[in-house]
Amino acid sequence: MDLDNLIELGDCPICRGPGIMSHEGGWNVQVECADCSAHTVYVEYNTEEEKREAERQVAHLWNIGKVIKSEIGE
Ligand SMILES: [Zn+2]
Repeated sequence: MDLDNLIELGDCPICRGPGIMSHEGGWNVQVECADCSAHTVYVEYNTEEEKREAERQVAHLWNIGKVIKSEIGE
């Protein structure tokens, strides 16, 4: 267990909801909001090392507010 691997996720930049690290297919990851449809881009990875880097990248994008907000019902 390596504490350096802990990644802090801030609140959703849009609605202040909780951010969730979401892996898809075992080869890419994004952060998405549990409350609204905001999400970061997907970052792909091939190895455990790249996976960690990808998680850091999407967490960083999320934390600086670089998210995609789908306009649903507007
Ligand atoms: Zn949100």
